[in-house]
Amino acid sequence: MTDIPPAGGAVSEQERAVTAALEASAEELARFVSDFVAIPSVSGSEGEAAAFVEDWLRRNGFDAERQYIDPSALERWPECAHERDLDQRPNIVGRLRTGDRRLPDLVLNGHLDVVPVGDESKWQRSPFSGARVGGRIFGRGATDMKGGLGAGLFAMRALRDAGVALPFDVQVQCVVAEETGGLGTLSLMDGAPLPSAVIVLEPTACRIVTAAGGAAPFTVGVAGRAAHVATPWTGVSAFDKLVKVHERLRRLEQERETTLDHPLFNQLPQKAPLSIGRVEAGDWRLTIPDEAWIYGRIGTLPSEDLDTVRAAVRRALDELGDQDDWFRTHPASLTWDGPGFAGWEVPRDGDLAASLLAAAAQLSGDTEPACITYGSDASAFARQSVPVALFGPGDIQEAHVKDESVAEADVSYASKVTALAISRFAATAYARGGVPALEAQA
Ligand SMILES: [Zn+2]
Repeated sequence: MTDIPPAGGAVSEQERAVTAALEASAEELARFVSDFVAIPSVSGSEGEAAAFVEDWLRRNGFDAERQYIDPSALERWPECAHERDLDQRPNIVGRLRTGDRRLPDLVLNGHLDVVPVGDESKWQRSPFSGARVGGRIFGRGATDMKGGLGAGLFAMRALRDAGVALPFDVQVQCVVAEETGGLGTLSLMDGAPLPSAVIVLEPTACRIVTAAGGAAPFTVGVAGRAAHVATPWTGVSAFDKLVKVHERLRRLEQERETTLDHPLFNQLPQKAPLSIGRVEAGDWRLTIPDEAWIYGRIGTLPSEDLDTVRAAVRRALDELGDQDDWFRTHPASLTWDGPGFAGWEVPRDGDLAASLLAAAAQLSGDTEPACITYGSDASAFARQSVPVALFGPGDIQEAHVKDESVAEADVSYASKVTALAISRFAATAYARGGVPALEAQA
């Protein structure tokens, strides 16, 4: 039999049993993450990693559903049109069936794919070693995000084993293709009932992330007039003009930094970075370049509308003509590369954030929410007004770099916070008589 967990700050016997069980299974969890990391699952070849979590779910008595993505669905998400081999890359959905479904499912979401390892010779150990050294697990995906997925799976098992009453089923969504556009989650959500709330298990250094910035990727092109480099005055350097574009964009960034205001983002060195990732100009040392390009992205705050920000970039580029006649006859071209993603935010006193914060406060004293400036599958849920938060072990600075690793203690801590937060979320729902009174998207 299950007891309904008490609302408010009190901790139930069962919640104590959950955290004790997760404490006891810390070693098993570390081994799970190590084995998981040892399976290479670079985006496009997630099949074996999918089979690994499916097998764990079945062996632990959970339903594990394989969801294959229908290639014809790609037409709806042109930004994912590059995806291949979909018949070998299923999403896996693990389910804790509680027998009480008065609320829609609570979802834990994590991705199976990892980014490429880059130059393997720069790694101290083989990139997929899964080595456990000095309390850390090493290998591509340790932080981003097999540690987080492991924590979520073990949290679900501990809740079931302790018999914690939940007025909803729990889903652990193990998705493909997150790093290459998010097709896995988009396809899982397609036509499915909306969940009560979602915790995306991305690396947040175990902070409770309640807000994320958005971003719009762009390309700016500038024209010049080619000439021999020995007589540059007979031409116009597209590179020199590109420098002016860059200066103007930097000024736009500065202007935005002084006017944008958000309690969480104000704590970051930059609230909404405008970053250039790649520059291209000319094709020959002895020729003044007649074309130059920058490829970048502009960051946005959760409350900002992407199109309004896009219009501000266009205006800034148009202003270049006020000081430089060349731009009046040769305006910089601006292309928006793909849909970008909007930011999102949940109120800290809403059910989801409050449950996570209560769990973290209880286990570590961390009571403050945090924000991030990177994109994740959380956007797909936020777009549908589903309350979503990010929480997971590992630092984002460890992700996508060589010698990626995650601390075993952080993975274990994350499993406890996740389980306790789900129990707290349930307690709040029961206190309301199981009536969904969940927060709307801010
Ligand atoms: Zn990730």
